Amino acid sequence: MTALEIQIAEIVDYTPQMRRVVFAGEAVARYAAHRPCVPNIKIYFPRPGEPIDLPVTDERGRWAFVGDQRSRVRTYTVRWLDEENSRMAIDFVRHGDEGLASAWVERISVGDKLGALGGGGLVLKPGGYAVMFGDETALPAISDTLEHMPAGQTGQVFIEVAAESGIHELAKPEGITVTWLPRGGKPAGSTRLLIQAMENLSVPEGFADMSAVHLWVSAESEVVRFARKWAAMVGIGRANRLIIGYWHRDLNEVAYGKLSDHDRVRDEMDYERPGHEEDHRHDHDHAH
Ligand SMILES: Cc1cc2nc3c(=O)[nH]c(=O)nc-3n(C[C@H](O)[C@H](O)[C@H](O)COP(=O)(O)OP(=O)(O)OC[C@H]3O[C@@H](n4cnc5c(N)ncnc54)[C@H](O)[C@@H]3O)c2cc1C
Repeated sequence: MTALEIQIAEIVDYTPQMRRVVFAGEAVARYAAHRPCVPNIKIYFPRPGEPIDLPVTDERGRWAFVGDQRSRVRTYTVRWLDEENSRMAIDFVRHGDEGLASAWVERISVGDKLGALGGGGLVLKPGGYAVMFGDETALPAISDTLEHMPAGQTGQVFIEVAAESGIHELAKPEGITVTWLPRGGKPAGSTRLLIQAMENLSVPEGFADMSAVHLWVSAESEVVRFARKWAAMVGIGRANRLIIGYWHRDLNEVAYGKLSDHDRVRDEMDYERPGHEEDHRHDHDHAH
């Protein structure tokens, strides 16, 4: 797709650590019209105090980044997309000034603009017994997944957050239990809370052989690398697991993408949200 300038309409801090930015207008409608526009979005950040110099694509449809443009792209989750009213929300973790996105989100005002370069990605396959692990970067994706689950879905969700102040109600099927894991002020990426939750996981008897567990894990790199080993050990097959690193505690996103493609492997769960399918898998690579 062509890069679009999306404009901020509203800013809401729904917990002390999470800032929701709502974009609205004609560019959002055009973004929504691009089939694989969810669950993830590649956003392009302007240089501080400068207008956006939107990247362009070459004749093969690949991004032809110039200068430092490639380093200004980050991946986020579309928290919700209201196609009818041309509104879209992205929830940003407020992790301080060391990040391009995190520094931007501390300084924004209504009317500011970002570049939207395209979307796509896989989601948890419905059915079986759902088991999800994630930290606050994964909270938007987990919230969205829970909202899209069939009413009869059963399973367990574990969410690491900075502090108890990050705990809030989530819309979910009755058969899903949510366990919050507050870090109690320890830095993100420094605890073993999610790893311990995996090690202590107990599933209902009918699912005890783990063959019908549908696993989704997204968090800091070390957690997801552990998760893949753990899943293999307890017998969750590749087709039933989707494990992707959302960030790396020593690297910015571009470096993490280059180093290990977000710790992804190619032969895990391959399920797209119905209605948004398209050949999206290359979007990720193009943007890095
Ligand atoms: C598919 C996908 C969906 C994602 N969805 C979301 C989302 O909806 N909301 C969201 O907030 N994030 C999300 N992330 C994670 C986000 O892309 C990364 O956290 C990204 O590194 C943030 O960019 P930045 O410019 O703030 O920091 P970068 O410039 O990439 O990194 C700078 C420094 O900040 C550190 N850092 C990065 N993220 C964090 C963090 N969360 N906590 C503490 N330190 C950090 C890095 O280790 C690095 O040292 C998603 C990632 C992926 C792959």
